[in-house]
Amino acid sequence: MSAPPPAGGPVNIVGAGIVGLSVAWALASRGRAVRVFDAQPPGAGASFGNSGSLSSGSVVPLAVPGAARAGLKMLGSPDAPLVVRRRYLLRALPWLRQFVRVSDEATVRQVADALLAILSPTLPAWEAVLGAIDARDLLAHTGQLHVYASRQALAADGFAWRLRADLGVRSEALDRDGLLARQPGLGPAYTAGMFLPEAAAITDPHGLCLRLAQALRQRGAEFIQAPVDALGADGGLQAAGRTFPAQACVLAAGAWSMDLLRPLGLRVPLESQRGYHLQRSSLEVAPGEPLRGPVVTGDTKVFIVPMRAGVRCGGTVEFAGLRADPGERRFALLQASFERAFPQAGEAGAAGQTRWMGHRPCLPDTLPVLGPLPGLPALWAAFGHGHLGLTMSAVTGQWLAEAICGRAVPELARFGIQRPSLGARRAA
Ligand SMILES: Cc1cc2nc3c(=O)[nH]c(=O)nc-3n(C[C@H](O)[C@H](O)[C@H](O)COP(=O)(O)OP(=O)(O)OC[C@H]3O[C@@H](n4cnc5c(N)ncnc54)[C@H](O)[C@@H]3O)c2cc1C
Repeated sequence: MSAPPPAGGPVNIVGAGIVGLSVAWALASRGRAVRVFDAQPPGAGASFGNSGSLSSGSVVPLAVPGAARAGLKMLGSPDAPLVVRRRYLLRALPWLRQFVRVSDEATVRQVADALLAILSPTLPAWEAVLGAIDARDLLAHTGQLHVYASRQALAADGFAWRLRADLGVRSEALDRDGLLARQPGLGPAYTAGMFLPEAAAITDPHGLCLRLAQALRQRGAEFIQAPVDALGADGGLQAAGRTFPAQACVLAAGAWSMDLLRPLGLRVPLESQRGYHLQRSSLEVAPGEPLRGPVVTGDTKVFIVPMRAGVRCGGTVEFAGLRADPGERRFALLQASFERAFPQAGEAGAAGQTRWMGHRPCLPDTLPVLGPLPGLPALWAAFGHGHLGLTMSAVTGQWLAEAICGRAVPELARFGIQRPSLGARRAA
């Protein structure tokens, strides 16, 4: 590829999801020229239909002691919250193997510390971005209500709640009356719970992407609606039959990032954990009662959240790769979870219900890959944000933009592609 422009030159961003847009915004705010590439319009990937939660207290990795055994049990049931499609099992095995390897308590605590570092500045980072792009109206200070069938069911998640408490995440334990005070209309299936007062929410995740893209255009950012075909080691890339030279390139292609890394000889166990949502056209969850904030079901881990356009019910994890069609049973599971949580919701909002499936870009140790790639210093990684990409993207943007502008960001060391918990390797 042609010679790179001088330091301070443009930055190519691959992917116009919330992560690519956030990095682009942080760079543009620091006076850097950016070009954003995506075959789709902004926010059409996982960032379109997520649950909107800014879960700054989600410091517990997915792999915890006992998670492998719980996961194995679920594999037998097509209606479990986590499924691996039979035809995909062999493909998912390397990811699952690494997931089991990092579920020991010592690794979990290390990962939780790294999660705390990226999650604790979430709210101020988002407040700054939303203020700058005139989108404060999308932020709701809701807290997050986790509901369980019994105190025993809550105790089964005890490790996670203790870890949160150890790391200073505030939460309040609630009995049935406490739950009802927080969310009138909650069904009788749930009698115990925890409330996370510091969690917040974005009430229109796709709208946020559009607002970021609009603000970027106003700052002179270029959007090129074409897939990137190849990355160069010098920050340049190939797209739409042309070469686009740049001083640096940020790979933020979500679950598709491996397609561009593989030709550079890097292998990372990145998998799509396919998630689904149903969205009702009303906010009512019982006669006269709107949904006040996100409710998370302890049994199915489904997020039931108030969005601008109505109640969104999102979640479940399915390993089936990037090409398979959505599975009907996943939608049925979401519907059943919603009805158990809110049995009196009735037909309010059911008529205009919409459905969606998207690809969470997941790495086995729950952390994203952030920072320069080994031997390719003009090429920066910003992918693998898993279940927390909306939450983490404002801080991801800040950290990467600072580092690309030449300032030291010590936090990035824990998110590098060579960290032992990731199990990345160079292809022979
Ligand atoms: C059901 C569900 C609920 C969720 N809830 C939450 C939540 O409440 N809170 C939270 O923090 N997170 C949540 N998430 C996770 C979050 O949505 C993701 O982590 C986040 O959207 C990932 O953003 P991204 O920009 O990395 O990926 P994406 O949004 O998928 O964007 C990647 C983009 O890269 C583009 N691309 C791919 N290949 C190329 C190429 N070759 N050239 C150019 N562009 C390319 C794609 O077209 C896509 O637009 C949820 C996810 C799901 C599925």
